[in-house]
Amino acid sequence: MTLKTGVIGLGNMGGGMAATLAGKGFEVSGFDLSAAALEQAQRQGVRAVSDRAELIRSVDVLILSLPKAEHVEAVCLGEHGILELGRAGLVVVDTTTSTPEASRKVATALRAKGIAFLDAPVSGGPKGAANGSMSMVIGGEEADLAKVLPVLEAMSGTRVHVGGHGAGNVAKIANNMLAAAHLITTAEAMSMAAKAGVDPQKLLEGINAGSGRSAASQVMFPTWVLNKAYDSGFTMGLMRKDVGLASDLAAALDLDLPLARHVAQLWDDSRETLPDSDDFCCIVQRTDKALYGRGE
Ligand code: NAD
Repeated sequence: MTLKTGVIGLGNMGGGMAATLAGKGFEVSGFDLSAAALEQAQRQGVRAVSDRAELIRSVDVLILSLPKAEHVEAVCLGEHGILELGRAGLVVVDTTTSTPEASRKVATALRAKGIAFLDAPVSGGPKGAANGSMSMVIGGEEADLAKVLPVLEAMSGTRVHVGGHGAGNVAKIANNMLAAAHLITTAEAMSMAAKAGVDPQKLLEGINAGSGRSAASQVMFPTWVLNKAYDSGFTMGLMRKDVGLASDLAAALDLDLPLARHVAQLWDDSRETLPDSDDFCCIVQRTDKALYGRGE
C-alpha cells in the first residue's frame, strides 16, 4: 500500500523533505501558513493545500517541520488540529527540534485516539532535506516506526531509533549542544593559528586529518564560513533555541555542565550584534571579526 503523506511546515527543511518525497513518487500534500512556501512546494511537485483540516483528514503519515515545540503542540492539540481531526491509524512524524516534554505530552494525547507519534528530529540542513540524505534520531514505538519506514527511508540516509517518546529530541538537543560548541571552539583554534601565521585553508586540512575535526571543521567552515557565504539555511534564532533547550534540559536534570553553560552564554550574549535572522555560522564572527567578517 502506498502511504499518503502530508507535510505541515514547508520551510527550509520541510519544503525540501516534501519535494524529496514527491520526487521519489510519493503522493505528498503540504500545508504552510506562508503563501510563498506553499507556492514553492507546488512548483516542486507537492500538492499545496490551503485547508489544513483537509490535509489532516486525508493522509496516512503526517510529517511536521515547525520552528518550535509550541508550534507542534498547537498543531497537534489545538483547535482543528491533529487530535481533533486525525483518524485512528494516522502516524505523526515530528521532525521539529522540539522538547522531550512536548513530544511525550503530544504522544500520550494522540495515542488515546489511536494516532501514533514519533519524535524524529533531523540533521543535514536544507541540502540534506532536499536530497534525502538527512540523519534522524527517533523516539517512539518500534511498531509505529516500522509502519512509516518506507517514507523515512526515502527522506533520510540514516535513522537511529534511540528510545521511547521524547528520546529523539533528547538526542537532537545533545547533538546541537555539541555543534554549537564546536563552531566556537573551531573559530578560536583557527583564529589562534591564523595569528601564528598558518593559512586557514591549510589548517582546516590538517585538523580534518587529525583528532580535532568535527562537522564544524568538515562541513561548516569549508561550506559557509571561510568563503564568507553564511548561507547554510539554518538561522541564528533556531540555533539559539536549541542551545536554550540544552540549558533547560541540563537544569531540569539538576546537572552542572560548566562548559555547556559558558557556550550558552556566548550564544545568548551575541544577540546584540548578531540578530536571530543571521545565519547560525555567523557566531564565529564574535571570536574574530577581521578573520570571519565580511568587512562591513
Ligand atoms: P523555517 O523557519 O525555514 O520553516 C518553518 C516553517 O514552518 C515556515 O515556513 C513557517 O511558515 C511554518 N509554520 C510555522 N508555524 C506554522 C503552523 N502553525 N502551521 C503551518 N506552518 C507553520 O525553519 P527550518 O529551518 O525549516 O526548521 C524547521 C525545524 O527543523 C526547526 O525546529 C529547526 O530547529 C529544525 N532544523 C533545521 C535545520 C536547518 O538547517 N534549517 C536543520 C536541522 C533541524
